[in-house]
Amino acid sequence: MSERLRELAAAFNGSFAAMTPLERLAAMAEHVPGPVVFTTSLGIEDQMITHLIFSNNLPIAVKTLDTGRLFPETYALWRETEEKYGRRIRAMYPRGEALEELVNDQGIDGFYYAPEFRKNCCGVRKVEPLGRALAGASGWITGLRRDQSANRADMDFVGFDGARGLVKANPIFDWSRDAIVRFTEANGVPVNKLHAKNFLSIGCAPCTRALRPGEPERAGRWWWEEETRRECGLHVDDAGNPVRADNHRPAEGD
Ligand code: SF4
Repeated sequence: MSERLRELAAAFNGSFAAMTPLERLAAMAEHVPGPVVFTTSLGIEDQMITHLIFSNNLPIAVKTLDTGRLFPETYALWRETEEKYGRRIRAMYPRGEALEELVNDQGIDGFYYAPEFRKNCCGVRKVEPLGRALAGASGWITGLRRDQSANRADMDFVGFDGARGLVKANPIFDWSRDAIVRFTEANGVPVNKLHAKNFLSIGCAPCTRALRPGEPERAGRWWWEEETRRECGLHVDDAGNPVRADNHRPAEGD
């Protein structure tokens, strides 16, 4: 099965450039031999993809990782999105015992004090639930964009996640943030109110701040850490090593 999925990823990668994002999503739903899952963080890119999936009734499960530390604005958007489309975004939560152990061991906001504490927190609240969100799936949709960071510039439209055994597709990989903003406005797609307050990339509340003028798009994430350490472990290379979120390019309009 893995070899077949790897070949499928290569074939998709060659054909995606000529397709629209909706055609890319539909191709994943139609041709991947097994369940396809979209994991949304409810950011503007992901809201565009959720809109395409729900509006077109594509057979793609939409799931989100509720770390328990999200912004109130993100929960409000989650509710608004379910109400607008009449569809459920499936929540994945951290394991209760692991979370209790984590907080009792390193404190409620331990992630500020040591890089390994931050990794532990992302591990319990994000990476382990992601594994369950993708369990049994053959395809994974993400909202990654090429121009979010320099290290994403070399990524493909579609790759094979060798560690998880999945076809991993980025259907808006070639879209600029400005183009996505225009799409959401033209189509009435609900977006996080924090975007208007200069939060371009939104994650957990304690680990996200607003951007200052001229800062790169993801500079507000884990800002207290060295750039080379900024990764949460969700995106891995073929060998299962985390892909770093360093070397970010300036966001458009900055
Ligand atoms: Fe924990 Fe921050 Fe990672 Fe969220 S982003 S899981 S609060 S360390």
